[in-house]
Amino acid sequence: MRPALIGLGLVAAGVLAAVFAEPLAPRVELTGVTDTIGRGTPMRVVATDRGSGLADVEVRLVPEDGSPALVLARQEFPRRGLLGSGVHETTLAPTLGANVPVPEGKATLEVRASDHSLLSALRRWPRLTKEVMVDVTPPKLEVLGTGHDVRVGGSELLIARVGGDAVSSGVQVGDLFFPASSGVFKEPELRTMLFALPADTPDARPVVVATDAAGNRREEPLKITVQPRKFADKTLPITDAFLQRKVPDLLSANGLPADGSLVDGYLRINRDLRASTEARIRELCGNPPEGPLWSGDDGGFLRMPGAALSGFADRRRYTRDGKVIDNQMHLGYDIASLKQAQVPAAAAGRVRFAGPLGIYGNAVILDHGLGVFTLYGHLSEISVTENADVKRGDFLGKTGDTGLAGGDHLHFSTMVQGIHVDPVPWWDRGWVGEHIFARLANHPRPAPPTSEPAS
Ligand SMILES: [Zn+2]
Repeated sequence: MRPALIGLGLVAAGVLAAVFAEPLAPRVELTGVTDTIGRGTPMRVVATDRGSGLADVEVRLVPEDGSPALVLARQEFPRRGLLGSGVHETTLAPTLGANVPVPEGKATLEVRASDHSLLSALRRWPRLTKEVMVDVTPPKLEVLGTGHDVRVGGSELLIARVGGDAVSSGVQVGDLFFPASSGVFKEPELRTMLFALPADTPDARPVVVATDAAGNRREEPLKITVQPRKFADKTLPITDAFLQRKVPDLLSANGLPADGSLVDGYLRINRDLRASTEARIRELCGNPPEGPLWSGDDGGFLRMPGAALSGFADRRRYTRDGKVIDNQMHLGYDIASLKQAQVPAAAAGRVRFAGPLGIYGNAVILDHGLGVFTLYGHLSEISVTENADVKRGDFLGKTGDTGLAGGDHLHFSTMVQGIHVDPVPWWDRGWVGEHIFARLANHPRPAPPTSEPAS
């Protein structure tokens, strides 16, 4: 009897010891931190405890200069019963806070965590430490020059001096970010920023932004005159002949379902394919830009001769038997010439894309540097290949009616990093001279690379 009782007692004591003095200390994991942290660093700590549950978790920053440690985040979980808190996992998002003074320089991040076990008093040391550099100063950012102005749907160039610690800089317009190009000028801190004021967000105002590796972000609202603008309203009746000629082919060429009526199919093209084509264009034109690949001596961009069928940002109302079936904005310029007319490059550049491109049919996109691109759509023939260098006036192909085009014409678009802008100013020698090349001429440029081997 007795030994059995003793045995039972020992087992009970063992269970209690396991519960209260469980040897499984809390575990912590820190992510989102590289070598430098700032106010915007997205730090994350996950603490777990398999036994009695977490008691407290604390993230602190201990500056090396001896100033007091800062608590960046803390969570407490009181004992809720015999077994502890019952909280086995928690996540903290420590930050340096927007307005808390933080000494810059070397520091140690410490993550402390305790559980409700009896042993926890013996485990007060940090569960994790990480040496970091603290940087809470956003990069320097200075917009140079004045007199910036833009019309809704247009584009504008500015030059800014950006601190060397910036890893990203550019212009934010509503949801769109237009990254800066570096390396255009001799002075390494000078950046060019070409941006658009899109026709469909006339109220967005540009903000110049620079961000460093620690996530510190400086924002400067840009002093700029924005000229409002009204765009033309056009009505386009959709005929049976057009639907029969275009819809089945375009659906199959673009992998879209062919079910429903021709009008259903047409709407799938005019809405979904239009949207996916624009997304593709933004992707194709999305890399950070280099300096201009064309020269100011050429004047404005070249416009293919021919009649303008449709202007930039026309608001199109599509009708069928007098009823409106769709509304879209026409993001480009339609120019009609002779059938299968030769299409000239608007300016020197590099072929970024050549091939089928959704609603634009066979298309070519040229990269002119600085973030400006031109698009040539509905071509019947393409005579250039991707990555080829072209000069102003070189023939890219012939006009046609591929894609969503009713008849032979050129759809011409000018784009800033994939966002369509009004091409008219770009065709104007005066505007390009004043807004682009006069500004580029204000600062020394590096010598052009020479093809001669150095002797
Ligand atoms: Zn068009």
